[in-house]
Amino acid sequence: MAFTRATGKHRRPRRIERGTARAAGVAALAGTGVVGSLTAPAVAAGPAAAQTGLTPVVTMGDVVADRIDAQAAAQHEAAREAAQAAARKAAEEAAREKAAEEARAEKERAAREAERKRLNTFVSPIPGSYVSTGYKSGGAVWSSGSHTGVDFHAASGTPVQAVGMGTVVEAGWGGAYGNQVVIKMHDGTYTQYGHLSSIGVSVGQQVTPGQRIGLSGATGNVTGAHLHFEARTTAEYGSDLDPVAYLRAHGVNL
Ligand SMILES: [Zn+2]
Repeated sequence: MAFTRATGKHRRPRRIERGTARAAGVAALAGTGVVGSLTAPAVAAGPAAAQTGLTPVVTMGDVVADRIDAQAAAQHEAAREAAQAAARKAAEEAAREKAAEEARAEKERAAREAERKRLNTFVSPIPGSYVSTGYKSGGAVWSSGSHTGVDFHAASGTPVQAVGMGTVVEAGWGGAYGNQVVIKMHDGTYTQYGHLSSIGVSVGQQVTPGQRIGLSGATGNVTGAHLHFEARTTAEYGSDLDPVAYLRAHGVNL
């Protein structure tokens, strides 16, 4: 091995070479764990230590070995700390992702809930308007002798909206009702919108609360522009309900 070669028969190796040789020897020892077990008596027992040049090597070896041990310990500690830091970072990252995922899920849940609530909400057919002619009010103008719906005050061309979620089952001319839309509501009841100046939906179309279905007008048997609105148990004339009670029962303020 390198550290045993100085026998006196050869020139001492140059400094750099020696250093390299010693380092190599120490490294080799360090690799086997022998360095730590070398003791002074063992070295002293060796013959002609001064001549062999073993002593300087081993002496330096002890120092270097201590340093290497210290370094190894420091490196081990640093590696352990680095691993801990990495694990901490990974855990923090995972926690952040989990929180973000939960926030997203909560947001989606809230959005679904809001949409579900919106779809189940009822609104007035003409926001901000009022009932100008009540349900069952008498008058020569009604073919049945009494009003089967209510009239909402509305100038011609005022947007008319579906009062709730449903499907359009009639959209067209309705005789005395003029241009009308009938919607089968999600709960199985029907709503009807008459005297429209224009119709914006077609049969089979799904509508949501507040969706515009046409514009108010004065088509059909009328004396002036307004919206005639009915709530019914079927799509047909004669199955009418009290529209104001119907809307109020569905949460509409009238
Ligand atoms: Zn009417």
